[in-house]
Amino acid sequence: MQRALLNEPGPGEFCLHGGHGPAGAASSLVAQIVFNRPMDAVYTYLVPEHLRELVGPGQRVRAPFGKANRRAVGYCVGTGPADETGRSLKSIEAVLDREPLLSETMLQLTRWIADHYLCSWGQVLDTVVPAGVRHNAGTRLVKLVEAAPDAAERLVEAKLPEKQRAVLRVLLDDHGPLRFDELIKKADCGPGPVKALCTKGLVVETSQRSEEFTPETSAVEKHGDLELTGQQRAAFLSIVAAMRSGEHRTLLLHGVTGSGKTEVYTQAIREVVHCGRQAIVLVPEISLTPQTIRHFRSRFDSVAVLHSHQTDSERHWHWQRIARGEVQVVVGARSAIFAPTPKLGLIVIDEEHETSFKQDTVPRYHAREVARRRAELEGVPLVLGSATPTLESWRRAQQNLDILLSLPKRIEQRPLPPVVIVDVRNDPQCRPGGAIGVALQRAMQKTLAEGGQVILFLNLRGYSPTLWCRSCGYVIKCPHCDITLTYHKGRNVSLCHSCGHEAAILRCPGCGRGGISYLGNGTERLEKEVRTKFPDYPCLRMDSDSMRRPGSHDAALDAFRKQEVRILLGTQMIAKGLDFPNVTLVGVISADTALHQPDFRSGERTFQLIAQVAGRTGRGERTGRVYVQTTSPTESAIRRASEHDYLGFAAEELQRRHELMLPPYQTLVRVIVRGPEEEAVRHHSDEMVEVVKAVAHATASTVRVLGPGPAPVAKIKDNYRYHFQLSGDDFESIRDLWRHSLPKLPKTRDVEFAVDVDPMNMR
Ligand code: ADP
Ligand code: ZN
Repeated sequence: MQRALLNEPGPGEFCLHGGHGPAGAASSLVAQIVFNRPMDAVYTYLVPEHLRELVGPGQRVRAPFGKANRRAVGYCVGTGPADETGRSLKSIEAVLDREPLLSETMLQLTRWIADHYLCSWGQVLDTVVPAGVRHNAGTRLVKLVEAAPDAAERLVEAKLPEKQRAVLRVLLDDHGPLRFDELIKKADCGPGPVKALCTKGLVVETSQRSEEFTPETSAVEKHGDLELTGQQRAAFLSIVAAMRSGEHRTLLLHGVTGSGKTEVYTQAIREVVHCGRQAIVLVPEISLTPQTIRHFRSRFDSVAVLHSHQTDSERHWHWQRIARGEVQVVVGARSAIFAPTPKLGLIVIDEEHETSFKQDTVPRYHAREVARRRAELEGVPLVLGSATPTLESWRRAQQNLDILLSLPKRIEQRPLPPVVIVDVRNDPQCRPGGAIGVALQRAMQKTLAEGGQVILFLNLRGYSPTLWCRSCGYVIKCPHCDITLTYHKGRNVSLCHSCGHEAAILRCPGCGRGGISYLGNGTERLEKEVRTKFPDYPCLRMDSDSMRRPGSHDAALDAFRKQEVRILLGTQMIAKGLDFPNVTLVGVISADTALHQPDFRSGERTFQLIAQVAGRTGRGERTGRVYVQTTSPTESAIRRASEHDYLGFAAEELQRRHELMLPPYQTLVRVIVRGPEEEAVRHHSDEMVEVVKAVAHATASTVRVLGPGPAPVAKIKDNYRYHFQLSGDDFESIRDLWRHSLPKLPKTRDVEFAVDVDPMNMR
């Protein structure tokens, strides 16, 4: 006698196979199934009699799919009675999950994502349920044996060999299922007697999924909440009021750096936890530092952390714990917005302006918009925090669609640091191989002599971003991408930061002669300069090259906190969230890197960068200063940032966006067309635009079609890239136009396209 008794969901253990063909139609049950295919379609399958009780929305099933009837795994998104049309439907073959992987709300949310980001539902579902969960990573199926219910009575009468009797006695003594291997050890026998008892129906074999994975945990010192300042308290009370209202509201918490936003979130979450609910806190991947994690773990008993460097087993383990309601706070990067919290009470997005909240592969969702939708569906507040909100969020608050909460002052009335704009156009020290100008060097000397610490920010890793041939003037690009190679001196290779291509460049690929010059500065070269100019002060470089080893990030920050390191230099890795009271000087090596990007958000990014970097100083008793080196000192974004004038910058930038018909006044959808042959890509994108324009004309659409043209980065990984954009007053009109155009679009071998709704990356 065998039956499948399950405690944990998982494939392979719940497969009840049905060979039944289409059954009698009248009272039949059908299931709507979605597969992970680019086509956005829902298929109807018949549910065989023996699976009726087992299947439901949010569970996965296996079913024959397509013309060849290959077995495919899909998600059940609904069930219902079969209609009377007598269609001959295919049947599902097995139900793979005992419990739904997705709640009703999550199914609605995923449907919305597919609609909004113009992709298929199945693609979204496979993103929302992590691979580790789908594959039961870190768990193992163990065979269990237990005594049949009537075994005790039958043991008395049954004539049983001694070994079998021993097995049964062990099971009856233990009163519960035992692992197969444990049982034969206890009964001191081989597998034979157990099998024999099974055949006689005296014992039952079952299986159970057991967790093989145990996460490393280190104890964290607990801290109490701080007493909120007046402005923090006002913000906190607004969030609590929104929470009590039981209706969704989005609140934009605009607080300057060091104003104590984290404490506001923390105490709002405290209220959520008091009510037996859970909170999700999204932070940019780069701020998911030990410091952030420690903060939440020091305040709450049960915190789950989700990030992209976890193994499948780790992620699965956390996911199950969250789904069981054992976690109070989920802290994670973008995809943590899909955490299966059973009773969500609040969503917080810290540093909401960060571009990493947008995913750049299908589904190209923005976690902030998904959060807004999820919070609406669950009737809970969403709090967006930033010192430099995106203009999208800022405009919603200006229109009173969202509630604006302000923390205009730093904690303890500390002043925001003075920002000095340094025009380095004629600086004799700023040239190839020299990054620290005269003024910054002097300021560093003074700061270090006074015992302060220095942070230098440069958003280019490697030694030099430009390899230039002295003979023919050729700038060396990646053979596969339209991107210059970056020289990495430590490894002595030239690297493509887009595709990872690496080469040892000894001579110019153009003219074949030697004599390569390295122009421009990366962090590696800056480190060399710092060590030369400040040999007496320990310095440390933090970028994704130097922080490769696990734990190195934590160790580096620790050394800086203990002041064993006096100068910290690095990429954006050091621009966020760090809180060191003794940092009294921050230098931005070049504010121009972000400014000269071919992107309508370049001004906004530059403003954000300077404001965030400036936020790293003056956080202790001592005041700090910021030096921003630039060759565009009159640029408004730089000027406004140096005056800490977010309001002025936002007003001016919104005006400009309005005049240029750009987001947030218009919705943009970008279509990227790519393929290995440039001519085919160009031709294909021309044809696509013709179709879309014709459909727009025929349907009297107000959507504007811009382009096509070569993308700013015209080639990536041997694929040429063209793009065009759809721009409209509202998203719905663009979606209508796109849906009408889609079936009419040309199909060419080797040319594909990607659709990016609300694009953040314009490369
Ligand atoms: P933000 O996230 O707005 O940049 P933080 O949350 O990092 O600001 O807070 C800045 C500093 O102020 C932190 O060291 C924090 O511990 C401290 N802080 C926050 N709130 C309070 C408070 N109410 N009383 C005292 N210190 C506080
Ligand atoms: Zn490349």
